[in-house]
Parts: sequence; C-alpha cells; structure tokens
Amino acid sequence: MAQLEDLYREIVLDHYKSPRNKGELEPPAVRKEGFNPLCGDEVVIYLDVDNDGIIRDVKFSGQGCSISLSAASMMSVAVKGKTVDEAREITRNYKTMLGITDDDAEREEVDVDRLGDLQALQGVMKFPTRIKCATLSFNTLEQGLDAD
Ligand code: ZN
Repeated sequence: MAQLEDLYREIVLDHYKSPRNKGELEPPAVRKEGFNPLCGDEVVIYLDVDNDGIIRDVKFSGQGCSISLSAASMMSVAVKGKTVDEAREITRNYKTMLGITDDDAEREEVDVDRLGDLQALQGVMKFPTRIKCATLSFNTLEQGLDAD
C-alpha cells in the first residue's frame, strides 16, 4: 500500500508541475469560474462543446493548492473528447470515489478504472477539509455543462 501511495503522490505532483490543458479558450467557449473559500483555490474552466454534445476542447486556469490544480489538470484530461453525458458520469464516479454520495449502492458501483489518473486523488477522502479542493474543478465543470 505504501508503494501505491507513493505512485499516487507522484501522479498528483506530475499534474501540478506539468499541468495538462492549461490556458484559455476564446468565446463562444463556455467560461465558468469556481472558488473554494476554505482554501482560497480559484479555477476558471473553459469548455468547447460541439453541436453533437462532444467536448472538443477544455482548458483551465487558476491558482490554488496542489490538490485543486492537479485535480483540474486530471479532470481536463478525463473529459476532453468525451460526450457531455460521459463527462457527467465521470464526475459522478469521481465524487463517489471521494465518498460524496448518499446512495450506498452507487458507492459500491464506482468504476475507478474509468477515472484514469484521478484515482490518485482517492486518498483525499481521508482529509475532509481537502475534498473541496479536489472537487472544485468538477463542480465548476458541471456548472459549465449546465450553462451550455
Ligand atoms: Zn485547496
């Protein structure tokens, strides 16, 4: 287990140091801002969703702790090229992995393999004060998907 935790820590650090899809998209891309007052994390998510409901491009910018920024980077990789429905499914799986669900059946069904690098953040569920850091980019993503 220690080895797995080391691997997870490396993945998180890698996304923090070399963020994927960092930047901005021009309008008419959707732009959504998120803020986590508990930690001071700020994130802006840009979404380019085509008429078929496919997320053609996603970018993010912002500042905050390593968990919030690496989660944003991993989120962008996980949802880019996916449909809006798949992105919502990934969001549900991710939140369930972090223990955010009222539904025990759903908790057992979480498909962590679909989450890719996001699995590396499952240790965050042991630190309730950091869960908002880990979910900020996903909550902002969901608002962006609703807006589109
Ligand atoms: Zn944070």
